[in-house]
Amino acid sequence: MKAHSGEVGVFVRIRPTANFSQDIIECLPDGQTVNIHHKKDTKKPLCPRKIQRSSWSFRLEGVLQDVSQEEVYTRVCRRVVLGALDGYNGTVLCFGQTGAGKTYTMTGSTESYKQRGIVPRAIQEVFQEVQKRTEHTFSVYLSYLEIYNETLVDLLASLQSSAHPSPRSMVISEEPGRGVFIRGLSLHPVHSEEEALNLLFEGEMNRVIGSHALNRNSSRSHCIFTLHLESRSRTLSDAKYVTSKLNLVDLAGSERLGKTGSEGQMFKEAVYINKSLSFLEQAILALADRRRDHVPFRQTKLTHALKDSLGGNCNTVLVANIYGEASQIEETLSTLRFASRMKCIRTNPAVNEHMDPAAQIKKLKKDVQMLKEELSFGNTLVDRPSVPYDPLSEAQLAEIDSQVQRYLEGSLKEISIISVSQVRALFAKFKLAVQGQEQKVNARLRQTYNLGEEDQRADTPAVKEWDTRGSTEEDEAGSFEVSHKNTQRPSSTRAKTKKSKDKQSQSKRQGEESPLSKKRSDSASKTKLNSVQSPEREQELQEPDTESQEPQESQPNGKEPFHPDSTLTKAEAFDDFKMGRGSKLNRILQENKAVLLERRSLHWQLTDKVNAVKREIDCTAATMQQYRETRGGQGRYSEPDDTLLNQLRELKALYRQRYEVLNDIKAEINYCQHLVDQCRVRLLSEFEKWYKRYFLVPEEDLETSMDNTLDQCDDNQLPPESSSSESFHNARYRMLRRRNTRSMCVTPEQRSSSSGSGQRTLPPPPPVS
Ligand code: ADP
Ligand code: MG
Repeated sequence: MKAHSGEVGVFVRIRPTANFSQDIIECLPDGQTVNIHHKKDTKKPLCPRKIQRSSWSFRLEGVLQDVSQEEVYTRVCRRVVLGALDGYNGTVLCFGQTGAGKTYTMTGSTESYKQRGIVPRAIQEVFQEVQKRTEHTFSVYLSYLEIYNETLVDLLASLQSSAHPSPRSMVISEEPGRGVFIRGLSLHPVHSEEEALNLLFEGEMNRVIGSHALNRNSSRSHCIFTLHLESRSRTLSDAKYVTSKLNLVDLAGSERLGKTGSEGQMFKEAVYINKSLSFLEQAILALADRRRDHVPFRQTKLTHALKDSLGGNCNTVLVANIYGEASQIEETLSTLRFASRMKCIRTNPAVNEHMDPAAQIKKLKKDVQMLKEELSFGNTLVDRPSVPYDPLSEAQLAEIDSQVQRYLEGSLKEISIISVSQVRALFAKFKLAVQGQEQKVNARLRQTYNLGEEDQRADTPAVKEWDTRGSTEEDEAGSFEVSHKNTQRPSSTRAKTKKSKDKQSQSKRQGEESPLSKKRSDSASKTKLNSVQSPEREQELQEPDTESQEPQESQPNGKEPFHPDSTLTKAEAFDDFKMGRGSKLNRILQENKAVLLERRSLHWQLTDKVNAVKREIDCTAATMQQYRETRGGQGRYSEPDDTLLNQLRELKALYRQRYEVLNDIKAEINYCQHLVDQCRVRLLSEFEKWYKRYFLVPEEDLETSMDNTLDQCDDNQLPPESSSSESFHNARYRMLRRRNTRSMCVTPEQRSSSSGSGQRTLPPPPPVS
């Protein structure tokens, strides 16, 4: 059976009786309609509506009157059983008053094979189908649950294995993907019809049978016989499998309490039965009403256990068993009303499909293997080397590494692509190569700029100190210096350090730094300049010599007079300072001077060019004036005058353009000059401090002073001296110290009195790393 979307199938089965009331119960020839004609009951004046109404018509899926057990099974249950084998849940319920034939319909007679009921027939059909459906493997499990007085009873508990000798407590549970199930209920695997029937009869034996006024064998409990099916395809190597539950439910009698005359325990049973059936009816009403989103399934064990077996994705069929006698007409009406409500429930059966993770992995592996074979076959057809599937070996990775190296060096023209894994490995190697190259460049830059690790940060302590304590101009000087670092142009820096050797190339590299300087160098290189020097130029040419004046400048300005008897002159000390402690400042000063020189050189060249244009303008203007005077004589303009006008216009434009550039360069020169001045002042003041500290402090403070100096050196992150000069300086200072100690053996008093007059101690060795 395929999906059977629609209503719950509802049948009425009329129990055969000698006193069938034909005038009350009318079964129409269509086989689907039952009409009830009920005469007025004068004994019950309290129910005026019931008394007034005398006829009811119930149209159902089928009315089963005087039909064999086989026909009942075929019409009622067969499609549900077949659907269960296809993976749809199915439920067949028998509802009705006690003695109406529910158990007869569901289980039938255990003595007569012909009169066997739905359950044994369903078992037979299942195993026959399992035999027939050879393309699938089926697993069948059985459970038999009884709900007696709201207690769950496992009717097959007596057959449990020795692992669970005592009956387990059961609880109704729900799990996603599994639906509602009874935890603790024994599940019995069965492999044949006989095995299953044995379990059925075992369960029947265990049913709680109560004596009853209407039927001594009538069940006082609800029984749910369930076949649990699982099917897997034998033909498809599919990870999918389907499961289903086939619930065959024999409900307890639905008669009213008063009618049975029950007392004591029997009365209690009747109360429970009525309660559960009443809630079953409520659940069915809620299920039938599409506006309701809550169905009270959990109110009783019966409704909770049947939660996913009533409507929903389940094929559900109800058999309403009725007594055909006039005395039972009210129960019959009640049963038929229940049946017609059940008919309103919509169902939407769906296959319970699952994925088996282990089987899925197996299937995927098989798919991968098959695809590899397909690919290999395809490669063979087009004569292509086979694709490697395994992870690349060490040797293959080494080969890829070598290919990348040779490709980057240029000795390998191209790398042939073989596989996706090879492409991935190539990318990884290229990434590594780029990262390595980056590190190398960074290291080279640090080496070039004498930067320690901390100098990589823009805000190193030394730079910060330089930036923050100076004036605005000093800030600019700091940032100027930093900007050189940050632009990371080793070429321009190298050009600066080799300024005396290669001024022209330096100016070109400097030109790369800004559009303005590029413009200048372009214009400078295009024009031949004359050799005439302006007075300004002479003055500028002397500027670089200021460097040599620096120690001399410091002498008259120094607060401490230089002692003429010193074994080390201040100029020598200044040289030492520039090589050691002040090397960084000195380097910055030299670099700024180099930039200044280059700007001045450009300025000279542009001055010449501007002057040349000016001369041309003057010349053209003079020519035009001459023409005008001529025209004034002859009384007309001549053609060459227009050409001259255009020429003059162009010359003026050129002049303006060059003049602007010249002004820019002038501004830059001023700025550079300012930087140089700042650096020089800073260098000298630092030198003075250093000199005072190490040459003019008392002897006993020397060691402390030296320590402080070393500490300070660390703090300031000054670039270390090169290791080659370290030994030289150390030796030199040691020698000076020995010499001073010998020549200046003075008392502490003498030392203190002479300290103010240039008496000095030896300076510490230059900071070394
Ligand atoms: P219920 O389970 O509804 O209480 P039962 O199935 O036990 O009622 O039926 C009561 C009696 O009526 C049983 O002895 C049963 O054999 C008999 N009976 C019920 N329905 C039929 C039927 N369709 N044909 C023959 N006997 C029936
Ligand atoms: Mg019964």
